[in-house]
Amino acid sequence: MTTERPKCSCNGGSTGLLIYSCAGSSNVGQLANEVAIEMARSGKGSMGCLIGLGAHVSTMVQNAKAANRIMMIDGCGVRCGMKALEHIGLTNFDSVVITEMGIKKNCDLKGDRDKLPELVKLISGRAGTITPLIIGEERVDGGCGCGTEGCCTDHDEEKGEGAKK
Ligand code: SF4
Repeated sequence: MTTERPKCSCNGGSTGLLIYSCAGSSNVGQLANEVAIEMARSGKGSMGCLIGLGAHVSTMVQNAKAANRIMMIDGCGVRCGMKALEHIGLTNFDSVVITEMGIKKNCDLKGDRDKLPELVKLISGRAGTITPLIIGEERVDGGCGCGTEGCCTDHDEEKGEGAKK
């Protein structure tokens, strides 16, 4: 019996759009993450691991720099994700903030899910207008660049960059 694996959502994708979300501990942070998931699952782009960039995992940073379009989805005006991208030297990306789309920040991690379809529509539409960049760096194979063989293949997570040290 064969088990069907889900398609890898971290590996570039055919649209060339790389999507990051802050996934913060609030209604809007979690909504940001769910918007990114929905966009990846519907083929609008692929998700990148923002925390990997914050940790300066070199291959993930390289893949972020190789993306030809990037959408950063932050929950609130603190814009942690945007700052993380800038910290690794990225400046040419699009950035959206959930609280600027009419949703007030609160501590309910599962709050405002009724707004998800509208947010996905709005942010997906905006992503379609991002001008592609000239690709500056070569992508590293292995999905998101974690150093494993990618999440759509069998692999041992211990082989990732962090485990090499
Ligand atoms: S941008 Fe706002 S919601 Fe997201 S991690 Fe930062 S403080 Fe939390």
